[in-house]
Amino acid sequence: MNYTVFGNPIAHSKSPKIHQLFAAQEHATIEYTRTLVDDNPQAFQAAVQQFFAQNGGGANVTLPFKQHAYALAQHHSPRAQAAGAVNTLISQADGTLLGDNTDGLGLVQDLTQNLQFSLKDKRILLLGAGGAARGVILPLLECQPAQFIIANRSPEKAQALAAQFHIQAQTFAELSGCFDLIINATSGSVSGSVPEVPPQIFSGCQLAYDMFYSAQPTAFMQFAAPNGAAHTSDGLGMLVGQAAASYQLWRNFAPQTAPVIAALRKELHA
Ligand code: NDP
Repeated sequence: MNYTVFGNPIAHSKSPKIHQLFAAQEHATIEYTRTLVDDNPQAFQAAVQQFFAQNGGGANVTLPFKQHAYALAQHHSPRAQAAGAVNTLISQADGTLLGDNTDGLGLVQDLTQNLQFSLKDKRILLLGAGGAARGVILPLLECQPAQFIIANRSPEKAQALAAQFHIQAQTFAELSGCFDLIINATSGSVSGSVPEVPPQIFSGCQLAYDMFYSAQPTAFMQFAAPNGAAHTSDGLGMLVGQAAASYQLWRNFAPQTAPVIAALRKELHA
């Protein structure tokens, strides 16, 4: 069976490696390729249609096409609907496409299973209001936290998400008090920068989680730990978790994520 990930750029994608490790667990043989698509909706639509016309088994979608994939899919999971973005395309028996969004599942799985962090009744702060933040709010809320605050550099984006999900928005400067979990869904760490939040908010924080991942602790992790965060984590486990959820949707097989995270971590350090 053939699978692919559509994106631009895409050469860096770890999805082929992750999905081959899942297939090995299933003792299955799959092909999983990277598909570079010109950055426009028409090119994306043509590439997706061609892939599924040639019996593609399923596809992942990454930047900058997650919203295009939402528009293209005829059916959407509630998670995709809430996110307004699709990272997983599943072919239906009638030839239509179902769009799902597994980013939030990946995050929740990493938090609750790999990091043993129970979300129920916790105070959660989500930093960022881009595509990644939007995709994880519903799955996090389904875990019944006691408090959920979103904050973003451009406050109007946080306010829009707060209105959609009935949560509270604050500006970075307004943030105060204690949070059990602080999630960095900004792309600051990509360029080594940290959102300009008051450092005191990490005091008493049980876990500071950065969706970005790298061989070394991210800029956010390096900021959170000395300011009081008891534990820090990057987002490698989320990456593998969202891939595992996609794999299960396509093949009805739930891969173990821990050995795959370990293999990728080893490769990052090589
Ligand atoms: P978007 O471009 O959609 O959103 C970027 C967000 O980061 C916006 O909220 C933006 O704020 C904010 N931002 C950017 N730079 C800064 C800064 N210097 N200080 C404060 N805020 C900043 O990106 P995504 O939502 O797609 O991705 C966000 C992060 O999540 C990336 O690091 C990405 O790698 C990671 N990610 C990880 C995944 C995983 O599986 N581990 C999956 C998906 C994403 P503003 O609105 O003000 O511009």
